[in-house]
Amino acid sequence: MIRAFVGLGSNLGDPRAQLAQAFAALERIPQTRVAARSALYRSAPIGSSGQPDFLNAVALLETTLSAQALLGALQAIERAQRRERPYPNAPRTLDLDLLLYGSEHIDTPGLQVPHPRMHARAFVLAPLLELDPELTVPGRGRAHDLLAACASQTVSREPA
Ligand code: AMP
Repeated sequence: MIRAFVGLGSNLGDPRAQLAQAFAALERIPQTRVAARSALYRSAPIGSSGQPDFLNAVALLETTLSAQALLGALQAIERAQRRERPYPNAPRTLDLDLLLYGSEHIDTPGLQVPHPRMHARAFVLAPLLELDPELTVPGRGRAHDLLAACASQTVSREPA
């Protein structure tokens, strides 16, 4: 059984409902259990202005799927929620990222783990720390220290 962390994000089409639907879909992935989920966090979009805020969250999964199979399941959920990507950083109904898969390093054309940008994103690190305050990102260091280095990015925990 591997512990895998998945990042969820949405800024289109009722993000709160999109994330609720995505969490329900995660529960249906075979050979996989949702062990914990974070609160929702609100953040301003990175890399393009004039878009709605994002809602983000992180789920902790316990799985016997391979990392590739798990990514395939996440992409199927994205497709089912009709994600459209007309241009880079476009608003999105649902984005699912495989952040961590145990302590493995994976570097293939279609899958990089740890997720290559997670260590620099407060909207990933804040919910991750809620689920595991002692977490270390392989090759990057303590999530607590990584979040401190993202102090210029505002994220706020949404009321339940
Ligand atoms: P994005 O638009 O940022 O969601 O990127 C999606 C693309 O990133 C897909 O083609 C995936 O194959 C690729 N990818 C590479 N590593 C990961 C990862 N750890 N989690 C999700 N997608 C990934």
